[in-house]
Amino acid sequence: MKEAVAGELAAAYDSALVDRVRANEFRFESGRLTVHLAREFGFCYGVDRAVDYAYQARRRFPGRRVFLTGEIIHNPHVNDRLRGAGIRFLSDAGEQADRLGADDVVILPAFGVTVNDMAMLSSQGCTLVDTTCGSVLNVWKNVVRYAQDGFTSIIHGKVKHEETRATASQALKYPNGRYLIVLDHEEAAIVCSYIRSGGDRDAFLARFAGASSPGFDPDRDLERIGCANQTTMLMTESLAIGEMFRDAMRERYGEAGLSTHFRAFDTICSATQERQDAVIALLAEQPLDLMLVVGGYNSSNTCNLACICAEKVRTYHIAEPECLISAEQVRYRPVSVPCSAGGIQEIAQGWLPASGPIAVGLTAGASTPNNIVGEVIRKLETFCGGV
Ligand code: SF4
Repeated sequence: MKEAVAGELAAAYDSALVDRVRANEFRFESGRLTVHLAREFGFCYGVDRAVDYAYQARRRFPGRRVFLTGEIIHNPHVNDRLRGAGIRFLSDAGEQADRLGADDVVILPAFGVTVNDMAMLSSQGCTLVDTTCGSVLNVWKNVVRYAQDGFTSIIHGKVKHEETRATASQALKYPNGRYLIVLDHEEAAIVCSYIRSGGDRDAFLARFAGASSPGFDPDRDLERIGCANQTTMLMTESLAIGEMFRDAMRERYGEAGLSTHFRAFDTICSATQERQDAVIALLAEQPLDLMLVVGGYNSSNTCNLACICAEKVRTYHIAEPECLISAEQVRYRPVSVPCSAGGIQEIAQGWLPASGPIAVGLTAGASTPNNIVGEVIRKLETFCGGV
């Protein structure tokens, strides 16, 4: 059904303006405004495919109930459009995931579902449309291999994120499979300290309650570890955490014992890496007055793009074009607010220079379609495009 939905998808998510900006060396100029667009931004291959499959599923099964397990991606506009197209969300109030039947169609999101959810849906005989991204499946493959070989998966990720929950569940496919989820350097340092010299077992278990597999025993389950990560984490942080664990295991078991106690592989997906690299290049190449990062506030990869930008220039992470309220006011998520905290926003006054040239950097997370990026550019032009 790909061709049948191509026009509908293009009308809903493409932008002729963004295409023109891309063709113009990623630069948009109007009056005193110059917008510099990152060279990689917006929909990644996994999201593109997931949204495409959702529209195809709606078209392929007319007359049948079509569900999504939850948000297909972390973008409110895309999810609302899918609701508008008649696709129901099992995560919405009133829907019952355990009362489905053979006539129902269920779409699994790009970040996958847990092993238990998959089993529950399969047991009800529904038709499943699996849009789990290949890059996520690659992580799962490695986590399963760790479990098979008796290694505990140390997952750098956000414990409440759907992808990390799904990845962790893969470790439990084998009886001795274990996992531990670490959010950041601070948590990695606590685990590394325990690996090196032990510590307060109860305090450790309390700290990682909800972030470790059932029955986790740090004295037993940190003897052999393998690193993995949520595909959308900050690449530099994931690599640094991997090295922290390598160093700790080397200290504990010596160089000779390292290979039997430690494994690692890079599971940041290429789309995430390219978007982070592109924004780093943009910040290095262009003097900017400010940076706009567009994407859902619960989108991990968008939050990480905002973190990178905020280190270099005044940055506003906005969920949608409507956040640009006026030339004086912008509504945004401060980068200090954790991604998982949802819709916490602030309003900044005087965010655009009142006179003189303005250089705005722009990027968008992997779940933001081009039409949203185009609307942001148009709003900027309205506010400061005059000479
Ligand atoms: S961010 Fe990466 S892993 Fe996630 S859907 Fe996109 S391509 Fe796949």
